Formats: sequence, structure tokens, C-alpha cells
Amino acid sequence: MNYKKIILKPKKEESLKRFHPWIFSGAVARKDEGIEEGEVVNVYTADNEFIAVGHYQIGSIEVRVLSFEPIKIDADFWRKKLTVAFDLRQSIGLVNEANNTYRLVHGEGDNLPGLIIDVYAHTAVIQSHSVGMHESRNDICKALQEVLEGRVRNIYYKSETTLPYKANLGAENDYLIGGVEDNNVALENGLKFKADWLKGQKTGFFVDQRDNRSLLEKYASGRSVLNMFCYTGGFSFYAMRGGAKLVHSVDSSAKAIMLTDENIALNFSEDGRHKSFAEDAFKFLGNMDNSQYDLIVLDPPAFAKHRGAIKNALQGYKRLNAVAFNKIAPGGILFTFSCSQVISKDAFRLAVFSAAAQSGRSVKILHQLTQPADHPINIYHPEGEYLKGLVLYVE
Ligand code: SAH
Repeated sequence: MNYKKIILKPKKEESLKRFHPWIFSGAVARKDEGIEEGEVVNVYTADNEFIAVGHYQIGSIEVRVLSFEPIKIDADFWRKKLTVAFDLRQSIGLVNEANNTYRLVHGEGDNLPGLIIDVYAHTAVIQSHSVGMHESRNDICKALQEVLEGRVRNIYYKSETTLPYKANLGAENDYLIGGVEDNNVALENGLKFKADWLKGQKTGFFVDQRDNRSLLEKYASGRSVLNMFCYTGGFSFYAMRGGAKLVHSVDSSAKAIMLTDENIALNFSEDGRHKSFAEDAFKFLGNMDNSQYDLIVLDPPAFAKHRGAIKNALQGYKRLNAVAFNKIAPGGILFTFSCSQVISKDAFRLAVFSAAAQSGRSVKILHQLTQPADHPINIYHPEGEYLKGLVLYVE
């Protein structure tokens, strides 16, 4: 197609030949005049061979690849991509009567770098992380309506804080479709919750812990559960359904605790087993009694958002886990997570190992956890792996 051209330096097409979807600015030799941020561009090798088509952006990643074929990025393109993504979720049984909460598009994992779409019952939330996706939002919205025909009533666009600040796009969070106040109660594995896409974190709910919550449900029976960093209470309602003796949910955000209480009430009204606390994690952990809990979940926010923060983050994970190892009851189970993309599975495990060693207790790894199937990792883009967790038995 007749898009403006970007020409690479010699040999800089190697990673593209292995289908990696990013082109760094250092790989670019020259480009056509007047390319605007967010524009679709064709990328050529130094020998003038077509290699990719993608969204142009100013920054260290200069092009995010949409296709390795010379195609037009039009309505048909968006419809096909969203259809592939939806078919994948359906074919693995993720969309069903008990579960209408899922990530429909997971950026590079769905070959759409820069785009996230989460679905909560009859509401879809679109989030752009690149200028190109922002510019394409209306096309994406149209395709989404076609692909999820009859399933969505509201499409909310939420990209105010996820787009590059310097691009100065003035993006506003707002409904593209629908938006009348309606009782959008979503279901995850048969449990009800309200996702607050208007004011909540991310798109309103942490969809990525679904499978890990299910695993916790299996271990909850008869246990005293502490859900630390609970946000909207996901792990707590699974623990309740799993037959926990008591469940304590803790988050430093009062708003998160309000949402947790609401969600617990939606599923387990008049159930005295649950209590929530708006408190700082370290303070709560410091004050709690030894052996008060025999199932602890630690799911903190990303301690490292960039490489420079890795060292401090690892110390943070060690410090946090150390308190849990010191205080969990004998025979206790610890679910511990890191969602920092820049922290590798091995580095996280080493931090948890150091914390365990400090406590001197016997600790066994029961499970090694990761992100669920609706957050797929494109095999050519290993950077897409971010969530890691360990389930540990502490003697
Ligand atoms: N486990 C949650 C997601 C956790 S997100 C789920 O399944 O949905 C991380 C949460 O940690 C956020 O809700 C944030 O408010 C909370 N948080 C951040 N710093 C904290 C601190 N110092 N003490 C307690 N909670 C904190």
C-alpha cells in the first residue's frame, strides 16, 4: 500500500525476520518526510525489500509492527484481527455462562502491539498504549461492535494515562458507545463483581489472576486467609467459596476496600467470615500475630516499572516475603506474585529464596504460576511474559 516509507540500516531486519514486532530507532537509516506520530508506515530493508507495516511513533520503539505482509490497515484488517482474538478465547472455553470477563486483546500477544481490550459482561474497555492505536480507536471500536455483535452495550475508551505524555494527544477517558448507568455485574468463574473502569486501576479489574484464584480456591478449605494487596477482592471471594474459615482482605487504598466489600456482599451477603482493612501492607504484616494465618496471598503492585529499579524491587520482594515466612502458621501456604515485567522468573525466585533462607523454615514449591491464556505470550516476543507466582508450602 501507499504508506510512507522507513528504510532500515543494513542487517537491521534480522529480528523482523524472526517476527519480533518492534523496530528500535537505532535501526532506522532514513525515512520519508513528514511522517506523523501514529501514522501507518511501510518498512523496507537497506536493499529496499518490504519487511513490515506498522505504527510509527517517536521514541525508542519507532515502529510497532501490525503485519509482516504488505497489507492495508483498514476496517477489514481490524475485523480480522479481533475475530482471531475472539475465536481463540472462545475455542479454549473462556467465554461461557459462568465467565464473561476476559482479556480480548493482549497487545503483542495478539499481534496488536499497543492495544489492550478487556471485556466485563456487556462492557468492553479499550486501552491504547501507542499513538497509532489511539489514532485507530474509532476503527477498533467499529470492528469490536461487529465482532462482539449483540454481546456489548458499552465501549469505554480509557487511555488518558497510558499514552506517551510527550505526544500531547489530549486523550480523554469516555464512552465511545453506550454509557448509560447500568448494572454491569460481571462474572468470573461464576463469581460476581463490579469492575470500576471509570475510576479503578488498569481497566477496572485484574483479569490476569483468574487461574491463580481458582487454584487458591482449592486450598482454602478450613484455612485462615490473608489476602494482602487485595484491590477489588478477587482472591478473597474465591477463598470464601473454597470454604475458608476466615478471610481478611488488606489494601492501602480505601477505594479498593470499598470495592472489595461491595463484591463480597454481591456473592456472600451476611457472611461473617470476611473482614477488610484499609492499611499499609508492611504495617499490617508487622502488627499481625505469628501463626494468625495459614494461607497468605501477596500480590503487590509492580515494584519495578523499568530496568533501573530492578535492584530495589528485588529487595522489596525479599523484605515482603520475609515477613510472611516468619509469621505464617506451620503447614501454611503462601501464594506470592510479581507482575513486574522487567523482573525475570529466576530473579523473583531468588528473592523469595533469600527471604525463605532468612526465616530458616523448610519451604517447598508446590506450583509455579504465570499469566492466563487470555494474556498470551507471542513466542517471538518474550517481553510479553510478565506475571509470575510461586505457591509455597511452609512447614
Ligand atoms: N490482588 C489484586 C491485584 C493487586 S494490585 C487482584 O487480584 O485484583 C496491587 C494493589 O496493591 C493495589 O490495589 C494497590 O492499592 C495496593 N497497594 C499498593 N501499595 C500498597 C501498600 N503499601 N500496602 C497495601 N496495599 C498497597
